[in-house]
Amino acid sequence: MAISWKENAMDGETYTDKQGLICPYCRCGGNLKTTSEITADESGAYQDVRCGDCGCEYRDIYLLVDYEELYIPETLPKENKNE
Ligand SMILES: [Zn+2]
Repeated sequence: MAISWKENAMDGETYTDKQGLICPYCRCGGNLKTTSEITADESGAYQDVRCGDCGCEYRDIYLLVDYEELYIPETLPKENKNE
């Protein structure tokens, strides 16, 4: 009888605590291969991963958490000035 995925898989919080570096099903580390490019849409970004040890496949889900400044033009657009 097949064992359901959810019975053995770790929950998302445990998985993200491990930075996604271990398989959420068999808990091995280091034998994980991404099987797709990162795909982004308005709700987040995704990348499919395959575990080389147990053969399971799952999807990493990325969320926007912050930003960092890259470039500010010296002359700001006029509507942004407080005068
Ligand atoms: Zn695995």
